[in-house]
Amino acid sequence: MVVRAERALGAVVGSAVGDALGAPFEFGPEGAFSDRFPEPGHGGEMCGGGGWDPGEATDDTQMAVLVAESLVECGGLELADVFRRFQQWAAAEPKDIGLQTEAVLSSGDPWDSAAALHFQVNQRAAGNGALMRAAPSAVYFAAHGREATMTAGRRLAALTHGDRAAWEGTAVFHELVRVALTGDNPLDAVEATLDAVHRDHRGRYATVLAPDWHPDQATEFNGAVWPCLGSAVWALRTTTSYETALRAAIDLGGDTDTVAAVTGGLAGAVYGVTAVPERWTTPLHVPLPGFADRVLRTADLVALTRLLTG
Ligand SMILES: [Mg+2]
Repeated sequence: MVVRAERALGAVVGSAVGDALGAPFEFGPEGAFSDRFPEPGHGGEMCGGGGWDPGEATDDTQMAVLVAESLVECGGLELADVFRRFQQWAAAEPKDIGLQTEAVLSSGDPWDSAAALHFQVNQRAAGNGALMRAAPSAVYFAAHGREATMTAGRRLAALTHGDRAAWEGTAVFHELVRVALTGDNPLDAVEATLDAVHRDHRGRYATVLAPDWHPDQATEFNGAVWPCLGSAVWALRTTTSYETALRAAIDLGGDTDTVAAVTGGLAGAVYGVTAVPERWTTPLHVPLPGFADRVLRTADLVALTRLLTG
């Protein structure tokens, strides 16, 4: 029996591990991970590459940590504070940052209109860049029930993403993590969660979250929010462990760090932190540009998660 605290740690640490594990395979072909590491459990997978050191987490986890620290230090959701931290981080030139996220954060517009103004002009803001950073907030708001956790997910997503599609995907992730933390199967909660999705967006999420959907059926690159979330849920549904879920996610290719970060958040919440291999948590580290160049290790993420769950 996995206890709730282990599941919360699993969501946060599991997402960070997925990010670091998937980063070297970003934009690579399908099956690249299994080609390189044919047998699960043999080690060496936290390999680095593509500009990333072995175990180095990318912008996904860096922004997730910024959200977590804001929630803890403010004692709740202070959107202006989260936005300010994002800006401070973006200004320190992190190794990677989403194009749209960077445009919004550097626009000079106020926190409560920057993303909306960007969306008005560009009309494209349904990337996975808000979904990717949602594990800590999902853990934090889980205790407040479905409506509160989905609302918080939407509001955090809206800081950088003006398209409601990104809000709804982040809200769905929040809710599935909330369900997993209770010990129930989040896959059994998909239908009820879809009922809580804004009606204009329900259809597209119903498609990618359907039990028979496969990532090959995606109509967009998995850097978009719908196939990213759909792929993470597919990886969870078609495997039986944290480790095999992550392998399946990274083997999809494309935006592997983020698909694996989202998968890792869900699978970590389901299987608990003890299911995350130690050979992956040991090299894990999260640089925080703009914040005295701190580098968080797994033990720091554990401590931060304990503060989130109070
Ligand atoms: Mg990334």
